[in-house]
Amino acid sequence: MKINVGIDLGTTYSAVATFSKQLGRVQVFKNNDEKECTPSVICREENGYTMIGEAAKIEQKSGNLNTVAFYKSKMGDKNFSAYIGGQDYTAEDLSAIFLTEFVKEIEEKNNIEIDGAVITVPAYFNEEQRKATIRAGERAGLKVLKIINEPTAAIIAYGLTSGKEKNVMVYDLGGGTFDITIAHVKNTEIEVLATNGNHQLGGMDWDEVLLNNIATQFSDEHGIDIADYPEEYKELQVKCEEAKKRLSAVAATTISIQCDGCSGKYEVTREYFDSNTSNLLESTKLLIHKCFDEITEARNGKRFDWKDIDEVVLVGGSTRMPQIKDMIVSEYGKPPITKDINVDTIVATGAAMQAELCVNSTLTLTVAAPAGGNAGGMSTPMTLTISNTGIKDITAHSLGMLALASNEKDYINSIIIPKNSPVSKTFSRQYTFGGEKMEVFIMQGETRDPHGCDILGKYVITGMPKGQKNQLSVNFLYNANGVVEANANLGNGTMLTAVREEVTESLDEIIARLEREKKEAEEAARRAQSIEIMLMIDSSGSMDGNRIYEAKKAAKSFAREFDLKYAKISILSFGDRSTFTCKNANSLFTIDAGIDAVTVGGVGYGTSNTPINNNYRNFSGKGTRILVVLTDGYWENQVSEEYAADNAKADGILIYGIGIGDADEAFLDRISSGKGKKVDLSQLTTAFKEVASSIATEVASGNSLR
Ligand code: AMP
Repeated sequence: MKINVGIDLGTTYSAVATFSKQLGRVQVFKNNDEKECTPSVICREENGYTMIGEAAKIEQKSGNLNTVAFYKSKMGDKNFSAYIGGQDYTAEDLSAIFLTEFVKEIEEKNNIEIDGAVITVPAYFNEEQRKATIRAGERAGLKVLKIINEPTAAIIAYGLTSGKEKNVMVYDLGGGTFDITIAHVKNTEIEVLATNGNHQLGGMDWDEVLLNNIATQFSDEHGIDIADYPEEYKELQVKCEEAKKRLSAVAATTISIQCDGCSGKYEVTREYFDSNTSNLLESTKLLIHKCFDEITEARNGKRFDWKDIDEVVLVGGSTRMPQIKDMIVSEYGKPPITKDINVDTIVATGAAMQAELCVNSTLTLTVAAPAGGNAGGMSTPMTLTISNTGIKDITAHSLGMLALASNEKDYINSIIIPKNSPVSKTFSRQYTFGGEKMEVFIMQGETRDPHGCDILGKYVITGMPKGQKNQLSVNFLYNANGVVEANANLGNGTMLTAVREEVTESLDEIIARLEREKKEAEEAARRAQSIEIMLMIDSSGSMDGNRIYEAKKAAKSFAREFDLKYAKISILSFGDRSTFTCKNANSLFTIDAGIDAVTVGGVGYGTSNTPINNNYRNFSGKGTRILVVLTDGYWENQVSEEYAADNAKADGILIYGIGIGDADEAFLDRISSGKGKKVDLSQLTTAFKEVASSIATEVASGNSLR
């Protein structure tokens, strides 16, 4: 039968558990060594033979260089790679290898088939680390049901079984990561209030204090730097970890070392160990206080501290060090809860419950009756029903975007989703945007300076109506796995396309590019500000009827293609004479009136005038000058007009010739900057639209500026 499991993929140890409906409780699976916890160590030989767990740990202890441990804290780190078995592996590769072997061992040993899995991660893991964990699970052939935070898993397993209302602190110190999480538990509901952590802090840092001490003593005595001997160094690492564990039970122990024909035996005391690791302990305390401060802030200044904590739960193997309990007692005044808690399997237990809740909306636990019996005074076990909706987790990291500060100079991380916000809640940003493609760079981190944050990627948003300023909203959320999702819509609700892309540029390269683009846009806007269009409309006798009607319609729609904040339009009516019906207008009202004032025969029924020659010098500004000529026939003075057009073009004026009816296409070609357009009357509005779009391109590219 296929089952769903919870996997605690730990830095040093991993565990798998499942929820049994029949028993109403979680079962933790044993490995081939009959243990519930399996060392997260891999040994891969050059022939591909792979061992994990205790067998790999023995190899590591014997100095086999094809072993690797502690890779979890390097998850998502592009600069990390481990060379084992003749190949380089990323932390994601190693997690995939470990999970593949681990799942196989647990399946064979327990005669089960694992289908879906909830995998736990430190609450402080960032988005890339979570995504790398999902990929590693999938590469190991698992259906990853969900990624959940280790402390939340611990609270699910521990906090929900008592059914009381309380504030619980989970102090989770594993092999390579530290998380502190405070949650409010009410009946069967969990609301995480704050979380902080450091994914570069864990038991291995405590080991290192012993390692450095022994290496220094050995070097002082024999003049040998053990770090130069990789095999012996690996061996010493394991010995120091073992000595550290012994120091949790005894006041002093010894570590012996052999290297390059020399040997040494050194005593370490708990007193020495505690005093030389006090800075590490202190850094966990600072993060506890950070949680208190954040909850205080969320409660509008109402102080939250130790007095508001009802229970402290220790999770992770490193919390076995007596110094942790001593610190809690001295700060909190009470010891942490130890009864019924297995620090090594509580996370896998909670993950197994979550796995059940991923496929069924509720689970029913059979729990022991509270002390003094249940309601009826009986000590028979009671049941507790938990629902998925009752678990409200939060995000450990703020999500921001790269933005220009209000001083228009500095780039900042502008926070969209503040840390400690509920997951799956949407946060939106509104923009007024005139372009066709918008890039939003998203970052994770708390500092205003973007250099202190991780760039997660960018969303490229497209589909906005062209040639206008659009109101749009970009909506972000952290999904239940802690992975960012975004979409975008226009102010009227129309959805846009928002595609997540990887960012290959460095932050400084991005900023330099944005600066460049900003300058170019300012330059284009400056150019656009001085657009001047002179629209010459043929009003000779042949334009009578439909032609003038369509011409006016097309001219009006043409005027609407421009942002009149930046463009001025003049209308010239020509026949035997020529006259401006409006000049340098920047209101549609005036332009429409100017167009309406063009009347057939108003300036004569023939085409004896030379409108280009007479008027091209009448532009007022020095910016982009555009002349659009609409005609339906042959002009009497074509040759002199071609000559005038050449002069105008040489002066930097762009000319567009549009013809209908009997217009001379070759003449239009000769007077135009590009090719003339001769169109059917029904296509006149479209032809004008094309001219407007060509003008926009010319202006934006700067080609029209001479
Ligand atoms: P985890 O990642 O939660 O499996 O925690 C493993 C860490 O707990 C490793 O750094 C171990 O060295 C440490 N650990 C396990 N047992 C003890 C112990 N008795 N005393 C001190 N540290 C321990």
